[in-house]
Amino acid sequence: MAFLVLKAVQKGQHSFSANEINYVLLFAITIFVTSIEVVVYYSNLRQSQLRQDALNEKLQEVLKGKKASQIVLPKDDPFYELTMTVNKIESHDRHQIHNLTNQGNELKAIVNNLPVGILVINRHREVQLANPATVDLLQLQIKTDPHPYKMDIKQADLQDLIERTFETKKDQHQTIHLKREPSEKVVEAMVVYNKQVHHRFEVVVLLYDITEAWTVEQMQLNFVSNASHELRTPITAISGFAETLMNGAKNDPDKLDEFLKIIQKESRKLVHLSEDILSISQTQWDGQRSLEVEECDLATLGQEEIDVLHRGMRLHQVQVSNQIPKGTKVQTNKEQLGQIIKNLVANGTRYNRPQGNVTLSYTEKKNRWELIVQDNGIGIAPENQHKVFERFYRVTADKPGEMISGTGLGLPIVAESVKNLGGEIHLNSEPGKGSQFILSFPKVLQPHTEL
Ligand code: ADP
Repeated sequence: MAFLVLKAVQKGQHSFSANEINYVLLFAITIFVTSIEVVVYYSNLRQSQLRQDALNEKLQEVLKGKKASQIVLPKDDPFYELTMTVNKIESHDRHQIHNLTNQGNELKAIVNNLPVGILVINRHREVQLANPATVDLLQLQIKTDPHPYKMDIKQADLQDLIERTFETKKDQHQTIHLKREPSEKVVEAMVVYNKQVHHRFEVVVLLYDITEAWTVEQMQLNFVSNASHELRTPITAISGFAETLMNGAKNDPDKLDEFLKIIQKESRKLVHLSEDILSISQTQWDGQRSLEVEECDLATLGQEEIDVLHRGMRLHQVQVSNQIPKGTKVQTNKEQLGQIIKNLVANGTRYNRPQGNVTLSYTEKKNRWELIVQDNGIGIAPENQHKVFERFYRVTADKPGEMISGTGLGLPIVAESVKNLGGEIHLNSEPGKGSQFILSFPKVLQPHTEL
């Protein structure tokens, strides 16, 4: 501007005094400087507005939990400190969210993999969460939306337990038999009342599957009652007949002979029971240690066991034939295999009819060999075939008076011994026709190795 004024003076279009020119120059310079200041001021204002917008946008993203990009400013920028703090808050926040997500996922994985059923019910009696174990135990359809818990739990005793927890605001627990297909499950149901968190988790139902322990307990109770019955009967007979003999019957030679035979028979029963109890604990112990493996003549071993059972065979009028080819050699533990043969042949004889047959045979396979014990006795009903290998289980006879005495330990001993020898057992049986036990063993057994 000063330049234009100067030009005008030089062209002589106007005549100005020196003072006037100075004023004009000063004015022009002032205007010029002020304009520059205004431009700089607005430029700074714009810059700071841009930074504020960027920071604001970043904080909004952080609030929404989104990943925002880092804002980088030169160190001398007035927003440098503030931007660094916002960046730090953002990465700290992201770290926290990451941790929480990880913890949430870990917790979810634990809950989903827990063998305990977990069902969370809110105060509106709606299911908030049910883990896979609950879905499996209660045989549910998976529903993700909250829904009334009675849609999932239909069983009255479990519903009562949950309602009692809501009413009393106290934890409850009870053993419950869940009716389900194909077989019922026994669960220890713990219903926990949550005092602190009233909204989402008012009541937590925990279902522990105790079917196995319960079944074992029942079998042991059965065993105790079976064993005490089996023990009491011969002991009562032995002491009763001994007393009768002492009271004078010993002077009658016929009675003396008859009563002594009864005493002998009953003592044998006692021996059998104590032997079975000792055998099962011994076999269990054998499973824990390395077994002596040796080459053994199978036909000879089979015959030795048959000879031991000779008396029982005569008593039941059952014929046992050993069809194992002479000279068949197998790698095995003689003691365990002898026990297996003895128990199976004894059962084939006992659960048979007069003139029945039991055969012992051998088949060679590629890497294995099979021992087959077959009888044409009373057979085992399909529903009992897997149960006969459970400890203390005995098939109840239709007429209890005719029940063959036993302990329910013979086949569990066989199963345990077969396992100790690295083998497998398979049962084919038909009531009224007979049973076939197929035992398959590996040809090579490593001596002194744990099986
Ligand atoms: P125990 O003979 O002492 O009862 P086991 O464990 O040997 O015990 O057998 C369990 C049940 O299996 C027996 O009570 C019997 O009912 C049935 N069982 C076993 N072997 C045979 C067989 N060969 N034929 C028919 N039933 C059998």
